[in-house]
Amino acid sequence: MPGHNHDMFNARQAFDKTGDPRMRSDLYLQAERIIEATRLIELGARDGLAQQLTGVPKAKVNRLYCQLMGRPSPSGQTPFSDVGYLKDRHRLLDASVAWGLYKKLAPEKRDTARVFIEVYEGYLAIVNEPLLDLTRVCLVPNLVQMGIWQEYRCQYCRAAYLAPVDHLGHACPGCELYYRYRCRACGNALKVTAKGRYAKTCLDCRTIEYPG
Ligand SMILES: [Zn+2]
Ligand SMILES: [Zn+2]
Repeated sequence: MPGHNHDMFNARQAFDKTGDPRMRSDLYLQAERIIEATRLIELGARDGLAQQLTGVPKAKVNRLYCQLMGRPSPSGQTPFSDVGYLKDRHRLLDASVAWGLYKKLAPEKRDTARVFIEVYEGYLAIVNEPLLDLTRVCLVPNLVQMGIWQEYRCQYCRAAYLAPVDHLGHACPGCELYYRYRCRACGNALKVTAKGRYAKTCLDCRTIEYPG
C-alpha cells in the first residue's frame, strides 16, 4: 500500500530529526551502534571518541563506559596534532600500517565506527607490540584529510607510507630504521672505525654518501 508506506516514511523522518542520524529509529540500528560503542570502549576508546564514531548519546556512552570498565571515562583532550608520532620512527611505521588498513577497509559509505574497529583489530593482529592506541590510530586518516600528512612511496621497498607534507626523505620509516646501520647502496652492515664511529665510506661497495 503506497499511502501506508508514505506515512511510515514521514514518521521515520520525524523521528530521525530528533537526534543524530546514525541513531535511527530502528531498534536494530540502535543495537548495532551500542555494540560498536561497546567494542570501541573495550579497545581503549574514551567516551568522547566512542560517541563521535557511533553517534550514541553521551549520557548513554558514559553509562556504558562505567558498566564495562568499572570507572568513569578519563577526561582530557584527544590529540589533534602529529607531534606524538614524529618523535619515534617506530610510531611512524605503525601509523603507516594503520593507514594501509584504513585504505583497504574504508570504501565509501561504510559505517565509520565499524571501519575503525576493524582497522584497530587488524593493527593489533599485525604488530608485535602496538605503539599506537585507538585514539592515535583514528587520528591517522584525519591528519591526511587535514593536509598535515601525505602519502609517499618508499624509494627502497616501494611501499606507501605517510609523512608530514614537508618531508624531504625518500625512505619509509621501516627502511630508515633498517638502513640506520647499513649501507644504502649494498645493504651491508656499516663498519665501526677505531674511534667507535661508523665509517663514512662503505668498506664493501665503496659508496661514500650515506646518512650515519
Ligand atoms: Zn621502505
Ligand atoms: Zn655498501
